[in-house]
Parts: sequence; structure tokens; C-alpha cells
Amino acid sequence: MNERPGPVTVDLLIRNAWIVTMDAQRRIYRDGALAIVGDRIHAVGPSAEIEAMVSAREVIDGSRFVLTPGFVNCHVHVTGEPLTRGAVPDDTDWEANVMGWLIPTYQAQTPKEERLSARFAALEMLRTGTTCFIEAGTILDLAAVHDGLAETGIRGRIGQWAQDRAFAPGEDQAALTRQAIDTLQREVERYSCAGDPLLAAWPALVGHATATDDLWRAASELALAHNAGVTAHMSPDPQDPEFYLATTGRRPIAHLAEIGVLGDHVSLTHAIFLDRAEVDLLAATGTHVTHCPMTAMKGAYGASHSGLFPEMAAAGVPIQFGTDGNNNGNAADLMRAMYVTAGLFKDSRRDSSLFSAYDVLECATLNGAAGAQMGHLIGSLEPGKKADFVAHDRDRPEWTPLLNVVNQLVWSADGRGVHSVWVDGRRVVDSYRCTTIDEDAIYAEVEAAAPILLARAGKTVPCRWPVL
Ligand SMILES: [Zn+2]
Repeated sequence: MNERPGPVTVDLLIRNAWIVTMDAQRRIYRDGALAIVGDRIHAVGPSAEIEAMVSAREVIDGSRFVLTPGFVNCHVHVTGEPLTRGAVPDDTDWEANVMGWLIPTYQAQTPKEERLSARFAALEMLRTGTTCFIEAGTILDLAAVHDGLAETGIRGRIGQWAQDRAFAPGEDQAALTRQAIDTLQREVERYSCAGDPLLAAWPALVGHATATDDLWRAASELALAHNAGVTAHMSPDPQDPEFYLATTGRRPIAHLAEIGVLGDHVSLTHAIFLDRAEVDLLAATGTHVTHCPMTAMKGAYGASHSGLFPEMAAAGVPIQFGTDGNNNGNAADLMRAMYVTAGLFKDSRRDSSLFSAYDVLECATLNGAAGAQMGHLIGSLEPGKKADFVAHDRDRPEWTPLLNVVNQLVWSADGRGVHSVWVDGRRVVDSYRCTTIDEDAIYAEVEAAAPILLARAGKTVPCRWPVL
């Protein structure tokens, strides 16, 4: 006699939803169900099949939703810019942008402002469907950032920004390097990745020309020893290749390969001014590239003109997305990064086969998860993985009629249509409101903090037209 096993009790069942799983077969269910136990996905599949398997404590009718994995933002400045969003005009060149605006506002911050800034960044990401992020680097106080993020429910990898190269005459290079390595070591030990916590620290290098080989080696070794990764900026502009060629005789990627620090634990942000040999080295080492298309557009970096992103994709370089700072692209909505990338190279190369909607969705989910060193935990909706997912609201014009769910996710929808979000099985956005951050309170706090911070930095925000 065959006895069917009784139903498994699950905490949450969402049924009758479109589900884009991003599993190995890229299965999409048009009437799908997702069952959650605790922080994990228990089952996903056709509604009728899953409903027969489980008994749920809470059932949500998902007929209004398209469920996708949470997006992974692999380069975001959670401090420094969220409090000064949009202050930097879009007609400043690189020098004026970085030296005239970003550095003064970075330097004027306080740890209290960094804490607020990080919480605000988390709010923007969660509300637009990003469930996991890699921080570019905290400027002042990682403890303040960690503390601010702890209750938001977001998953992330944070890190104290480190650099060590002595540029001014008389600086003690050995002391600078020792201090930078000590900082990285202290933070990766204090906020360890062990046990896959929601928040943990990585070695976060400023990158460019600011890190010596010793610091690069230490960052790489620390990351490998602590199940972490290394994040750094590289080659957004010809200055980095020029510096490396002048000082090492090799281009940046060739030099980093030579000293043995590349690998799939490393994410390099921007990577626009590369040559073909550098692309091959990135592919051979499995090094991740974080493409920040909105930064490239607002800052006139030349990603579509000079970048080898289609060549990287063809060579197998894992490309993931970032939104960078809130003055570089001005928004932390990763769905915009998918949309922009899907269009940039089609247009600049006159080749519609480049970066399809399917490709960019992989970049924003699976590739991002792998870059965050969490490919085994997140990035797809499969049994055993963490319950990090987004419910996109179909009761909106951009989803009507629903004919090709991936095409519409990338080309029609954006983060403003995110209705609800779960991270680690916890509903952190419900009906367009964050459940973990008091939105009214934080908007008021940020509105009040911005002019004070800008005044301290000595900046007034220009407007070409009269504001009366
Ligand atoms: Zn950046």
C-alpha cells in the first residue's frame, strides 16, 4: 500500500503568481507557487503541485505579482553620497566632479551622517528590489554603518575604504601600508562572513592607483581566508592605465594578474579602459567586473564608446551591475542598470544581439550573487536557497498586457513597480512601504541633514534657472 506523505507545514505560500526562477533551466511559471520555511525556499513550481505538497501558516494570492529573485547591487556608495543626491551638476567633467564635489562632501561627513546615509541607501535599494549589495567602501566609521544597517533587514557586504599609496613627499610608505592592512584585517575579523550573516565586511579598496602591491596582496589573502571578496575601482578613465604603464610597465589588469591577486573573489568596478589582453586575463582568472552604466552616462566615462563589455561577455567575464554613488546616476535602482545596459551596446554597436533582456537579468541576479560570493545562497528561486525575492506589481500599465515577462521586466518596468520584498524570509517591503525603516522619519532626517552637510563642505547647489 502506498501511503502519500502528509503535507509539510511551511510558513508562507505565495500561489498563482508569475515566477521567474533563474534556476539552471531558467524555468518561468505563469501560475506558480513559492513555499518558504524560515529563511529558506522550501519549494517552487506550478501552484497545483506545490499546494498539494504543503500546508501553509500564511497564504498570499500572488495573482497580482511577478516574483523574481532579489537583485544584487555590486557597487554602491552607501556613505558619501546618499545625503547629497543630485547635488552634482551633470555638466561637470571628471576632475570637477571628483575633486570639486565628491571629495569635499565625503570629507565633510560625520559618523552620524554615515549611519543615516547607509540606512537611507538601504531603504532605496529595498524599495526598488535590491536585496543584497556590495558597498564601495565606508569613508569614516564602519561600526556606524553596520549599526545603521543592522535593523533594516538588507543583506550586504560592507567595508572600510582602504588605500595606502604615499603620494605626498615625506610620507612613510611602510607605515601607510601597515595601517591600511591592519584596518582591513580588523574589520573582516570583526564582521566575519563565517556562517553567512546578513551583514559582513570585505576588504574594500578605493583602487585606481591608490593601492600598493602589498596592500593588494593582503586584501586578496584576507578575502580568501575569510570567505569574503575584494572590491576596488579600476580604469573608469585612461588615468589608471597610464599610471600602471608608467610605474610597472604593464596595464592594470596585467599587473594585478602578475602579482597574483585576481580571481573570482575579486570585483573590479568600471573596467572601461581595458585592452583585449586584459579582457582575456579577467576571463581566465574568473575576475568579476561591475558595470555601472548610469555613472558612465552621467559622468561621460565612455562605456558605450570605449568599453569592451560585449567582448567581456563573449569571453565569459562575469559581468554584474552597480549603481555607484547617488551623484553618479543619482539613483540606486538596479532595474535601471538592467534597462540601460540592455540598450547601450545595442545602440552604440548597432547590434541588437548584445545584452538581451535575458542576459541583463542574469547579470543582476545570478552574476551579482556569484560576485557577492553568495552564489550558493541567493540569485535564484530554488529549494534550499535563501528566501530573498521581489514581488513586482502587475496592476500597473507597464505590466499590461503581460506577454513576455522578461522583456517587460527589463524594458517596461522599473523599481517603482516593486510592491513587496522579502530578505531572508522576512517581508521588508509590504505594499510599497518598508517595514523595517520609518520612511516618513528618515525622509525628514535626510532633508534636514543635506543642507547642513553641503554647507560644511562649502558647496552650494547650482541651478541654471531661477528658483523662486
Ligand atoms: Zn564607486
